[in-house]
Formats: sequence, C-alpha cells, structure tokens
Amino acid sequence: MVRADLAPYAAQEARSRGRQHAEPEATSRSPFQRDRDRIVHSAAFRRLEYKTQVFVNHEGDLFRTRLTHSLEVAQIARSVARSLRLNEDLTEAISLAHDLGHTPFGHAGQDALNECMREHGGFEHNLQSLRVVDELEERYAAFDGLNLCFETREGILKHCSLENARKLGDVGARFIQRQQPSIEAQLANLADEIAYNNHDIDDGLRSGLLTLRQLADVPLFARHARSVETEYPELPERRLTHETVRRMINTLVTDLQAETSRRIADAAVASIEDVRRAPVLVGFSPALRAEADDLKRFLHQNLYRHYQVMRMTAKARRIVADLFRAFLDEPRLLPLDHQARVTAHAPRGIADYVAGMTDRYAIKEHRRLFAIGES
Ligand code: MG
Repeated sequence: MVRADLAPYAAQEARSRGRQHAEPEATSRSPFQRDRDRIVHSAAFRRLEYKTQVFVNHEGDLFRTRLTHSLEVAQIARSVARSLRLNEDLTEAISLAHDLGHTPFGHAGQDALNECMREHGGFEHNLQSLRVVDELEERYAAFDGLNLCFETREGILKHCSLENARKLGDVGARFIQRQQPSIEAQLANLADEIAYNNHDIDDGLRSGLLTLRQLADVPLFARHARSVETEYPELPERRLTHETVRRMINTLVTDLQAETSRRIADAAVASIEDVRRAPVLVGFSPALRAEADDLKRFLHQNLYRHYQVMRMTAKARRIVADLFRAFLDEPRLLPLDHQARVTAHAPRGIADYVAGMTDRYAIKEHRRLFAIGES
C-alpha cells in the first residue's frame, strides 16, 4: 500500500525493487522496518561496540565507538526524514548499517587492509558494509546475508569504483549511469558527516588533544561558543562544549532541511525515479558547506593527525598488516570455520576475517600469533 503520509519523492515500500531472495512479507512490520531489525540483530552490528571511531576502544569509556556513532547518525537522519516527510524507516536502516564493514581501528585499519589487498582487488569499507549484509552474515536458514531490500543496499553503498560497480549488478548500476540513490540514502550520508564532525570535537576536547583555544579559529564552533558565553558567562568548560556542539548540530540540521527543501522544489521531483536522475538533493547551503569544510580541515590537521592519534594509527596499521600477512602465508593459522571459507579466494576470505575483528580481538589475535608464550 502506498503511504499517503510520505512526500511523493520519498521511498515507498510498496514500490520497492524488492529483495534478492523472495520472502513472504512480515505481517506486523514494513519491509524497511524489517531491514532495520535484521541489521540490529546482526553480529556485525554488535561488533561496532568494540570498533574505533577515532579513539581505540580501551582509551576511555566515554568516547564514541562505531556503535554510538551509528546511533547518533540514525537519530539525526530520522528527525530530518520525519520533518521532510521521507521514509524514516529506510533512513534509519541505512544509517545503522552504514559502518558495518569498518575494519578494527577505524581508517587506519581500512588503509592498511586496502594496502594488503592491493593485488587482490583492494579493500573499501563501504563495499565491505554491503558485503556484510549481502553475504557474510550467516544467520538465516534460506540465504546468506540479511537479504535486505534493494533501497537499503543501495543506500549502504555510498560510493564505489566503476570497476566494482560493474561487478555488483543492480546496486552498482547507478554509478555507471551517474545517478543518485534515494533522498533517504543521501540524508544518511549527510547525517554521518554532521554526527562525526560534532562528536569528534566533543571527544577531541574530552581527550585533551584539542583545546577550546584552538577551536576559536574555527568559525562554525567559535560563533556558537561566543553566543553561549554571552548568555552564560560562568559556564564550566564541559557544559560550554556540549551546549556549543548541540547548537552547532541544530544549525547544521536546520540549514540542511531548508537547503534540501529548496533543492527539491527547484528540481521539481515527483517520484523516487526523479530523485535518482536529479542532482544531489540533500546538502547544506553554500555558506554552511564552507564552514563545515573548515571544521573538517581543522579536525584533520589537529585531531586525526595529532601525534598521539598517529601513534595509535601506526600501531593499528602494523597489527592489521601483520595479521593479514601471517594468514596469507599460512591459511592454516586461521580458526577452522574461517579456513573453510578461504578455500575459494584466500586473500578476500582473509580480508573478511580481519575486517570483521573488533579492536580488542585484533590485538588479542596479534598477540596469539606473534608473542611467544601466548596461545
Ligand atoms: Mg560513519
């Protein structure tokens, strides 16, 4: 049944391109709600709790992990979806699944694994998220993976090379045709950016790697911090930070809603097919886009390349590369259930195993393989 409460350009379950394996519909949940539930029940989703966002899991209990990051993304995306009358369930499913393919140790792990896989088709966490939901989860009797709807899978695959797109069939087609995914997918993508830019400031300050004085040079942060200080001159630093960050999120979300509505009106989209053919519809106004880019640049220079983060990154790269090479040289070092999987294409199977590890599992496995006296 087509939902009349949604905008005409929203993704409608009744018009979904469906699942790879035919299944009877659930009686009490819509297909996208069911996708979300399958994602939440997956093993890969639970592993996100112990995977790095910026700070390695053991560095502190209050820092974001991939799991809390994914929840923040979903929460931001859902509220915007509701206000624009988009399909909230689809945007939630995509948001919760968007990082399922992340390696241990965040981007350091992904870069190391990509390097290891250079001769074997490369490694890209985005593509891996799709691989997790399409193939790697082993939970259902009738199929591998989670058998999600096309629209959810399309949203998970944010970007991919043309070479990979050609191998992917239906979800790859849009990269070849240069089309966009649903607005819900575009929204999940921007909600990801809003979430990490803001929580990385918060975590950066909490860790002491960033200071409020440095952030005075970042216009988006500085003007919100100034308005908080004017209203509440005596506020302790922790409250000032949170109050500033929450106002920044509000500014970004409000701007995103207004700009997206404007673009939707300009493009005169009346269906999801129009959305696919239109230019990107979800975005910030040019002024806020520039401010968000400044903030990103600041975080790159001052947080992601902080020497303490770089030390962790260097260790993480070494762990991932060591693990991959040890298993490639001798696949019989793999646990038995994984040995069975790597027979067809050893490098990809090993990459799947390493990518699936949590930070602490990778550290333990590295010790078990390389430290004498450990088993
Ligand atoms: Mg993310």
